Amino acid sequence: MNKNREVWVFIEQEAGQIAAVSLELLSKGRELAERLGSRVCALLCGHGIAHLAEEAIYHGADLVLLADHPDLALYRSLPYARVAIDLVQARRPYIFLLGATPNGRDLAPRVASAVRAGLTADCTDLQIGDFRQKGRVYSDLLYQIRPAFGGNVIATIVNPEMHPQLATVREGVMRLGAPDRTRRGEIETIEPQFDGRDLVLQIVKREMQPPCCNLTSASIIVAGGAGMGSKENFQLIHELAQTLGGEVGASRAAVDAGFIAAEHQVGQTGVTVRPRLYIACGISGTVQHRAGMDQSSKIIAINSDPAAPIFQIAHYKIVGDLNQVIPWMIRAYHENAK
Ligand code: FAD
Repeated sequence: MNKNREVWVFIEQEAGQIAAVSLELLSKGRELAERLGSRVCALLCGHGIAHLAEEAIYHGADLVLLADHPDLALYRSLPYARVAIDLVQARRPYIFLLGATPNGRDLAPRVASAVRAGLTADCTDLQIGDFRQKGRVYSDLLYQIRPAFGGNVIATIVNPEMHPQLATVREGVMRLGAPDRTRRGEIETIEPQFDGRDLVLQIVKREMQPPCCNLTSASIIVAGGAGMGSKENFQLIHELAQTLGGEVGASRAAVDAGFIAAEHQVGQTGVTVRPRLYIACGISGTVQHRAGMDQSSKIIAINSDPAAPIFQIAHYKIVGDLNQVIPWMIRAYHENAK
């Protein structure tokens, strides 16, 4: 095992549960580590969270660095950054993956700048490969793959020398592997060393808003775009979603037009989804929207324009006015359900 090429994953947790994105990154980390002949190390910070270490191992970690401390009970930039930076400086991982969540987006650049490493945000794929520059070959680098220039090109970014190779990834982008409850790993307890400056910020009050929708784990999504025409008409999307027992998605144009809240946006700057069935209504299907759709879903598209790009990826293509087609679908479903 090549311990010089460790793949680290920052484990986010809340209310006694590991965030889905961290489990997805453990699955991806496992794949990368196997390619490198190395191991996966999970960095788990918090308080009263020791029981989550086993869960990280079941999902792919070989080693869990467990920092269980009262000052880490809730995420705060400075103490969390102190733990991560001290460990990265001492142990020099090869790759460090974090979720592109508010906390991950806060922590990753702090670590990158402290250790003078590169960071690629919002990767949509991660692979291992070689890179040649000025006659020199850098083997087994992390290919950090993501859309660039408004989604018009897919860029592969490498960081040949300033390691660790840091990347953030949004929830739903990497596949979540099934936990293997027979896996065994090592748990190493870390004693964080804080100084007064790390603890200057105190959390006085915390208010949590329950999530308005759960697009990432929905098996059916009915999504509406600018073609819905108005917020009132967008009600048709809610009705169809309710009829089918699905969640409501939207294009950015629908969100920008005020038809629905931003949490419902699917795409490059929204959520990445993997339903079994995706019904796109009045959505043209630009690359930015498609970036959030999994092509293994069955896709039904309703669009009045037969040349709409969404039809290039749709399995069932309905060319027509959604104001007629959606009520027909709802009626047909009820009639067949009788
Ligand atoms: P339009 O492109 O306007 O398409 C509306 C469609 O409705 C048309 O195809 C039309 O034929 C059809 N239509 C109209 N009336 C009817 C009717 N009565 N019946 C049937 N069909 C009808 N977009 C996203 O969705 N998600 C993102 O995350 C995202 N991120 C972006 C990031 C960047 C950096 C940039 C530059 C853009 C991003 N966009 C994103 C915006 C994206 O480029 C498109 O502007 C957007 O997806 C278009 O939304 P739409 O398909 O709903 O609207």
